[in-house]
Amino acid sequence: MLDRYFKIEGREREAVNWITRGVPAGVDDVTLASDECLMDANLEGSREVHRRIERLPDAAAPPGGPSLLDVKIELARRMLFACVCCERRCGADRSSGRTGFCGVPFESRYTSDFLHMGEEPELVPSHTIFFSGCTFECVYCQNWDIAMDARAGRQAEPEMLAAVLQEGVAQGSRNANFVGGNPDPHLYTILRTIELTGEAARFLPMVWNSNMYTSSEAMSILDGVIDVYLGDFRYGNDSCAEELSGVEGYFEVVSRNFAQAFASAEVMVRHLVLPGHLECCTRPVMEWASRNMPGVYFNLMFQYRPEYKAGLYPMIDARLTPEERARALAMAADYKLQ
Ligand code: SF4
Repeated sequence: MLDRYFKIEGREREAVNWITRGVPAGVDDVTLASDECLMDANLEGSREVHRRIERLPDAAAPPGGPSLLDVKIELARRMLFACVCCERRCGADRSSGRTGFCGVPFESRYTSDFLHMGEEPELVPSHTIFFSGCTFECVYCQNWDIAMDARAGRQAEPEMLAAVLQEGVAQGSRNANFVGGNPDPHLYTILRTIELTGEAARFLPMVWNSNMYTSSEAMSILDGVIDVYLGDFRYGNDSCAEELSGVEGYFEVVSRNFAQAFASAEVMVRHLVLPGHLECCTRPVMEWASRNMPGVYFNLMFQYRPEYKAGLYPMIDARLTPEERARALAMAADYKLQ
């Protein structure tokens, strides 16, 4: 569990973004190549990354010329003209000032960054960047002040964020952790930040801390950039997701993304137990995770508290009872999840 993450930390392996910098783009000029050409180059290049992933660190600098990372950055930039960063697939042309459901404009904003000591113990201190805006609208959102306001905070300039991450490495951060809100709408900003972090990103695992409602296009861009997916898997069916987070097709999208992440990187699942949702959500999530991601890191979370609009929903306008907590723990043991 998290073997590769620990090897990167111990400098026995390179973070995958570094390997991706060493894979040639497969096109002469990424800005002139067609979308189809770039998508093909991305798929082929990502396969090459996986062939190289267990190589030992190489003293040689990545070769010059456009790299697979450049391809991924260009694909993410083009996505801003008809946004499909997440499965809402709004198609908003964010370059022209329009916004989609999340309200995130062309340029990202963020509210804070710091070495977070409250994440999973394997990750701390985790250099966490909190971007503004979210692709979900959870009625019980615990972070609603930044998640629901895409204009909150200050402009997230990749150059500045890269300098911040470099400084974090000097202070002992173990990884870079991109969260919000949700990181999906900020895909381009995040990739540029990773690129500009340069040599400091070589042994710095990249953590995608998300609701896993990412589009398949964005997931294919992230393959070869992200070392650890720290993903929420909250609902065991679509109707609870629609009622409480305002999303459609939740289970199919999120399970698809977890399966892809598990096949290509390391995964840490977070499951926040919701009051009254043990049979409809906790059980199916555990069942799916145990069957499809054997041995996965599974964090069962009990810190739910009614926030934001939870008062309008009687079932979740409560804290978990001790009985619910005990039942969730027993279920996790039954499914052999930690
Ligand atoms: S990130 Fe998702 S919600 Fe936001 S504009 Fe793009 S597709 Fe829409």
